[in-house]
Amino acid sequence: MLGLMQDWPLLCHKIIEHAAKYHGTQEVVTRSVEGPIHRTNYAEIHARSLKVSQSLERDGIKLGDRIATIAWNTWRHLEVWYGIMGIGAICHTVNPRLFPEQIAWIVNHAQDRIVITDLTFVPVLEKIASQLPSVERYVVLTDKAHMPQTTLKNAVAYEDWIAASDGKFEWKTFDENTAAAMCYTSGTTGDPKGVLYSHRSNVLHALMANSKDALGTSASDTMLPVVPLFHANSWGIAFSAPSMGTKLVMPGPKLDGASVYELLSTEKVTHTAGVPTVWLMLLQYMAANNVKLPDLQMVICGGSAMPRSMIQAFLDMGSQVRHAWGMTEMSPLGTLATLKPPFTERTGEERLDILQTQGYPPFGVEMKITDDAGKELPWDGKTFGRLKVSGPAIAKAYFRVDANILDDAGFFDTGDVSTMDEHGYMRITDRSKDVIKSGGEWISSIDLENLAVGHPAVAEAAVIGVHHPKWDERPLLIVQLKQGQSATREDILKFMDGKIAKWWMPDDVAFVDGIPHTATGKILKTALRDQFKDYTFPTAAA
Ligand code: ADP
Repeated sequence: MLGLMQDWPLLCHKIIEHAAKYHGTQEVVTRSVEGPIHRTNYAEIHARSLKVSQSLERDGIKLGDRIATIAWNTWRHLEVWYGIMGIGAICHTVNPRLFPEQIAWIVNHAQDRIVITDLTFVPVLEKIASQLPSVERYVVLTDKAHMPQTTLKNAVAYEDWIAASDGKFEWKTFDENTAAAMCYTSGTTGDPKGVLYSHRSNVLHALMANSKDALGTSASDTMLPVVPLFHANSWGIAFSAPSMGTKLVMPGPKLDGASVYELLSTEKVTHTAGVPTVWLMLLQYMAANNVKLPDLQMVICGGSAMPRSMIQAFLDMGSQVRHAWGMTEMSPLGTLATLKPPFTERTGEERLDILQTQGYPPFGVEMKITDDAGKELPWDGKTFGRLKVSGPAIAKAYFRVDANILDDAGFFDTGDVSTMDEHGYMRITDRSKDVIKSGGEWISSIDLENLAVGHPAVAEAAVIGVHHPKWDERPLLIVQLKQGQSATREDILKFMDGKIAKWWMPDDVAFVDGIPHTATGKILKTALRDQFKDYTFPTAAA
């Protein structure tokens, strides 16, 4: 017997319709690419996204067509986002920090028909446009006054493009399983892989993100997503914030400490989300200028492990911290570290111990850890295993890749190695390809990195496994010192001594001027392994 409830498909554009109707005057504030601060609201964004849909239809775009956006977090990007999805086309966010050849590869693989981009990226697109045969036109997110001379095919300024539409348009209704959006993982190994989200998965993910223990905002809060729309859907914030009527502050192209601080401060932002490198820049700026953020209630941090010293720094400022883990394939939220009973009253180091885990999942994400043969491992907080996940907002296949990516029980292998404790708190110890295998035992590179950045002179630290004749692999600690600071190999090892098992101690410390990062701000270990491929430990001689 079926239930007798209404057939109301979960469609992404219903979110912005809701925001326009019930939170129409709620503000969306942007640091525009052209420079000035721009203010609009959900009602205007909704009205203009209808014009985007109409303009796309005029250009012949239909259900299932892919439209690329290569753009910063701005109100125009949000209009485009909903305008594309409203006609059943697919909003393909492309990460502009990738190499131009990777961007070309991704656009070709997705067969994007239109590219919608910011002024910033016009020069790089001009260089690769001849390699993009599927692209019929380029829309530049600006107005006539700022539109540059360009060789891009059928280029038009966004404001002119939508001005040709009157906005008298109705969005379509279709099956909620229709594809809505697409995002390629950065592919640090092999080709990038396209994750194809559905309307249903995005709406369900937004509802998951809306809980107090997840992103934790409401209609009375202000959210600044430093995490870009092109990085795993800005962690769901572009859906979640309008669905609750949360005020949005969009940082545009400027993500340095001073610029982010300025917006957080002037717009009285209560919640913000971004990767650790962004928070490092913010904290450095605030310390150097002795400034505070009294309105900031919550800093959400994910994408890479959040160091303990960073958690402490935000707590000292009076903000709460929410360490999150997830991935593009998971829409992306997987877990968030909140204090639940019996830990709510914990203080000091014990509190930090919980906040530093990657947390537990919201409803809608199931997890397990297994050994290499797929056998489930115990949740004892100590045993490491392959972390596998299942849920309605988790990928079951990649776009145009003919391979099964799920195990027999329908779980997706995240490629991460983690422990689970009896309360469901998960702790990432490594990417499976980064874990250091020493004498048959595993050493967590992330634990060592987190510890090393706690040394006052260390700006950033990376640990890689280097071949060792006796132990197979041993950890090499690679350190970038803070500007103007100094520390020796011995200083750093002494600082770590006693805080980890003896056999986890790095065999050596190498100092570098800069640590390379991926396009999503993670440490690029493949490049470091390459850089240190001829390295031998002093202890490994003979
Ligand atoms: P990309 O590979 O394109 O950067 P993702 O953002 O999807 O894309 O990366 C997901 C991976 O990032 C996870 O599988 C995990 O290895 C890492 N990651 C994300 N959040 C955390 C975290 N809080 N701690 C440690 N690693 C994390």
